[in-house]
Amino acid sequence: MSDTPNRGFSTLSLHAGATPDPATGARNTPIYQSSSFVFKSAEHAANLFGLKEVGYIYSRLTNPTISALQGRIAALEGGAGAVCCSSGHAAQLLALFPLMSPGKNVVASTRLYGGTLTQFTHTIKRFGWEAKFVDFDDAQAVENAIDENTRAVFCESIANPGGYITDLDAISAISDKAGLPLIVDNTTATPYLCNPIKHGATLVVHSATKYLTGNGSVTGGVVVDSGKFDWKASDKFPSLSQPEPAYHGLVFADTFGPMAFTFHGIAIGLRDLGMTMNPQGAHYTLMGIETLSLRMREHVKNAITIASWLEKNEHVEEVTYAGLPSSPYHDRVARICPNGASGLFTVALKGGYDACIKLIENLELFSHVANLGDAKSLIIHPASTTHSQLTEAEQIKAGAAPNLVRISIGIEDSDDLIADLEQALSK
Ligand SMILES: *Cc1c(COP(=O)(O)O)cnc(C)c1O
Repeated sequence: MSDTPNRGFSTLSLHAGATPDPATGARNTPIYQSSSFVFKSAEHAANLFGLKEVGYIYSRLTNPTISALQGRIAALEGGAGAVCCSSGHAAQLLALFPLMSPGKNVVASTRLYGGTLTQFTHTIKRFGWEAKFVDFDDAQAVENAIDENTRAVFCESIANPGGYITDLDAISAISDKAGLPLIVDNTTATPYLCNPIKHGATLVVHSATKYLTGNGSVTGGVVVDSGKFDWKASDKFPSLSQPEPAYHGLVFADTFGPMAFTFHGIAIGLRDLGMTMNPQGAHYTLMGIETLSLRMREHVKNAITIASWLEKNEHVEEVTYAGLPSSPYHDRVARICPNGASGLFTVALKGGYDACIKLIENLELFSHVANLGDAKSLIIHPASTTHSQLTEAEQIKAGAAPNLVRISIGIEDSDDLIADLEQALSK
């Protein structure tokens, strides 16, 4: 499929990265539930280990089911290659790992998934890395935060939990000027709604746990590389531009060109960090992606209907959905995510914290879970859960103030969702 780049999104969702199984003709991509693969000869084995030939060795590195998924997501994002891994958080580490070293920093948006804020604030410090958080609506602040130790710029296209839309064109202009890769978490938007690479992103990361799989059955992650960044333009990225001792002095940027980051992600990242996706998980995500465009259209349609209804409700103070004309981010929708602003937003209630808890406890169709992007509608109170590690000031900056709930609109009949919200709000 890689030689047919002009196919449409829905066609690629069903076909990219896979052909009927060459061994059996199986139409659906089989689950290759095997940890290792038999070498054809001693020479074949040596070539695979030396990265002189591409093939399957051991499933911590590569596996045919996972390769199909990698090809599919790379095609949907318009990237050169992709590496799947065990979760969205693993994808973030896998993306940063080749770029960072002790003393280096990533300039990151204040509006991120709560778990990412925690990972970047506390955990990455143990590697000697640091995150510098700034408001990505303030381009000058982003530019000012970049220093000689910065190695990446990180944001979400549509930011969890508030559904804010990042001006990727403005941010990529800044990262380009600084000679730095821009990493965009495209989990909430999915490639159906937004293509960060078209707006200048170097790397795109996903939690495949969310809309990509779409039914809340697995955790998974992926790093997609645009293949466009010149790793040799400066001395900032020695893992990619300098000889690699573990592969007899091979230089990834020279040997693999636009696939350098992808090969590095597998041959060093998965090999040594080991946060591998499993073939069964890849199978569920492949199945989910088959219906991605259908689902996203329904998520967007329902989200507009329900956000508009909520905005007029007497108990509601504010709805943050960028799909609403009242949103300050509304004019970015057409440019950054032309197929819609996804199905995720927050609702601030006049009754504050207590009203949020009451709403959640009285809803019947909406499930109270720490997840989003499921075909089923979900709700959570971020301040006491996903964003509870933050101070109240940080919660407000992240769009997760104590008086709001985050809603992930599913693809149920919108009348039923409104009826459920109506009965719960009236209590
Ligand atoms: C869920 C999520 C993550 C983390 O993904 P996991 O699969 O839970 O590790 C990262 N970013 C965003 C935007 C998310 O919604």
